[in-house]
Amino acid sequence: MIAIGRAAGVTDTGRRRLRNEDAFVCEPPLFAVTDGMGGARAGEIAAELAAAALEEGARATRGTAALVELIQEANRRIWERSVADPRTAGMGAVATVALVDDGSSAVAIGHVGDSRAYLLRDGSIEQLTKDHSLVAELVESGVLTPEEAERHPQRSAITRALGTEPSVEVDAFTVAAHPGDVFLLCSDGLSSMVADEALVSAIEGAGGDLARSAEALVAAANARGGEDNITVVLFELVAPSEEIRERGGAPEAGRDRTSTELGSTQSETSASRPAPQVAAETPSPPVDASRHGAGPGGRVAAIALLAGLLTLAILVLYTGITR
Ligand code: MG
Repeated sequence: MIAIGRAAGVTDTGRRRLRNEDAFVCEPPLFAVTDGMGGARAGEIAAELAAAALEEGARATRGTAALVELIQEANRRIWERSVADPRTAGMGAVATVALVDDGSSAVAIGHVGDSRAYLLRDGSIEQLTKDHSLVAELVESGVLTPEEAERHPQRSAITRALGTEPSVEVDAFTVAAHPGDVFLLCSDGLSSMVADEALVSAIEGAGGDLARSAEALVAAANARGGEDNITVVLFELVAPSEEIRERGGAPEAGRDRTSTELGSTQSETSASRPAPQVAAETPSPPVDASRHGAGPGGRVAAIALLAGLLTLAILVLYTGITR
């Protein structure tokens, strides 16, 4: 038997992109990352529509077939919006979703696109999902080596996405889970920048604190260039007897820990780029702490940055005048 222990999610704009078109869901027993695509703000809209649909179905969905149907619902919402609103025509999103079934000690994975699910077990990492990308197909057919794929100019071209057709083919399967397993869901902004071994060391270096692990993964992607938006969701499975202890005794205690982790993350963030949005998850999350995409966090960071620059300008002027 298994239970869900700690969980954490972070999304970050990265170092090259102006906007964050990723989103995530941390709504036990469902976890997901989405990564939008499309002109103007359509990528953000697509990722948010997908995340909202997944979040709504999080608690009522059981089993692989129901998970596929939920992902189809996300697909329909993006498709219908793109048909109704010409400004969003052609938008889409990729999504990787994990649904924990503690009764059967299994995790159902539903997947479309080039976000990924990984399983960390006993110090090693396994990629669970197959990328629906041009380079992955070329590697599979022997045209490219995995090393060539990593440097290929078309490496971000995807072959399957939510919302570009009225229905979509969803990869779905279940993984037998054990206490101690850690699942990582991430957008390609992490997996394209950080090698698997470095993922393991970033996660394990945080000593079991998944919120810190998530931040370490984002930092690792940014340290290697941060060329895309970076989104990370981590959750661990524990023995049912450990569940209460891991969560600090009661849902209320868990809730307190969430705000502490949120505070410590933001205070550590440098003011030179938008703050990553972090949600450390608990059984009963505070209002909408469970789903994050681009938006308020970026705006708040931009205002903070402007305020900082203004203060600096005033100081410089003041020093100049008094000299
Ligand atoms: Mg991406």
